[in-house]
Amino acid sequence: MNAAVYFTGAYCYICVMNKALPTSTALQRLREAGLRPTRQRLALVRLLLESGDRHVTAETLHGEAMAAGIKVSLATVYNTLHQFTEAGLLREAVVEPGRSYFDTNTADHHHFFCETTGELRDIPAHHLSVSGLPEPPAGTEISRVDIIVRIRTDSAA
Ligand SMILES: [Zn+2]
Repeated sequence: MNAAVYFTGAYCYICVMNKALPTSTALQRLREAGLRPTRQRLALVRLLLESGDRHVTAETLHGEAMAAGIKVSLATVYNTLHQFTEAGLLREAVVEPGRSYFDTNTADHHHFFCETTGELRDIPAHHLSVSGLPEPPAGTEISRVDIIVRIRTDSAA
């Protein structure tokens, strides 16, 4: 797929950060996911889930944690994001080798990934239909289909 689009604005994730997720809600989300609510997990789940649906990298979340005065290493943020993903709190979208976004929207949906800006945007599941999927190998079933539509800004603009 070779689509070119114009991005006219950037999402503002930071501007709603002062609406803190109550600790009780964060605790409940961790418990429902079967994760022990350590102080670092609680702090990170609050940062992640207080701003609505969004996509973060380990680096951006680490930066947010630093800005919020949460003392945590990048390696811990990375490991915690993977634990949250395994527990079903997040979904991982690997956009390039070694580059993942973690998505707080765990419902079925797809993504536009802009190769120029590095931005990931949701495509609602009902906006895209997939046909002609091959039969999965014997003894397996399709668990889900994730589509990343790669786009770039129009260089002729
Ligand atoms: Zn998404």
